[in-house]
Amino acid sequence: MIYRTFGDDELRRLLDEEKNHPTDEARFVSLIQKSGGEDRDVALAYAEENKKLVQELFNNQKLTQKIYERAKAILDYFLTEEERVFPIPVRKIAEKLGFEVVERDFQNEDEFILSERQKELGKSAIARMQMREKMIGPNAGSIAGTIFVQKDLDETSKRFGIAHELGHFVLRTVNPIGLLYIEEACPGLYAFVKQREFLANEFAYALLLPYEMVCDEKIKYQSYSINLPIDYSNWIIHLRDLAQMPEYHVVLAYEKIKLLNMYYECENTESSK
Ligand SMILES: [Zn+2]
Repeated sequence: MIYRTFGDDELRRLLDEEKNHPTDEARFVSLIQKSGGEDRDVALAYAEENKKLVQELFNNQKLTQKIYERAKAILDYFLTEEERVFPIPVRKIAEKLGFEVVERDFQNEDEFILSERQKELGKSAIARMQMREKMIGPNAGSIAGTIFVQKDLDETSKRFGIAHELGHFVLRTVNPIGLLYIEEACPGLYAFVKQREFLANEFAYALLLPYEMVCDEKIKYQSYSINLPIDYSNWIIHLRDLAQMPEYHVVLAYEKIKLLNMYYECENTESSK
C-alpha cells in the first residue's frame, strides 16, 4: 500500500476542514448502513446508542469524582502537608477518625457460623468494623469504633483493609446502633458482594492513591524513565512500593485514575466551549 504524505499547509487545511465539519450525521449513519448491511432505522438507533454509551462512561466518573473528593477532604483535614506523602499514614487517619485497629483471626470466630452468607464471607474476610456513638466525655455524640483486620495478612493488605473500613464509615447511610452493632465482614476481592463493597474499595483507592499525588508522580516517573516505551507493570510496581498497597489493588486504582483524568479532560473541553 502506498501512503500519501501531506505537506504542512495541506495538512493544516485538512485539519481545519475536519474541525469545521466534525461529524456529518447523515454520512455517519449511511456508513454504518453500508458496512453492517442494516436498514436506515437500525443504523440510526445504533448511532444513537453509541452516543449514549459514551455518556454512560462519563456519568460513571461523576460518582468516582465524588468519592475521590471525600477522601481528599479527609486527607487535607487530618494530615499535615508533610504527612500527605506516600505511603499515606492510614493507621493515623483511622486513629484521628476515632477508630482503634485490632487484629483478629476471623477463621476462628463463632459469629461466622450464624449464617451461611457470613460463613461464606468469613472464608475470605480481610476486615470488619464496629461503630458506636460516644455517650460520655467531651466528644459525646461523635462516632468511635473498632476496625478489626485479619491478623495473617501482610501489612499492605492490612493497610488496604483499614482504608476500606474507613470507606464504610465515611460513606455510611445508616447510623451505628451501639456496641452490639457490627458490620458484615468485608471479604476482599474474591467474593461476590453488595454495592457498598465497591464504594468502600473506591474510597480506599482514593485515600491510598490520591488523584493529584499520582498525577504528580506520573510526571516525575516519565521524566526519569530511560527505557521507552514505559512499561505498565514497572509503573504499577513503582506505585505499589510507594503507596504500600497490594499490587492488584494498584492496578484497579490506577485504572480509576485514568478514567477520572479522562472525565476531567472532557469537562475542561466542555467548559471551554
Ligand atoms: Zn466492606
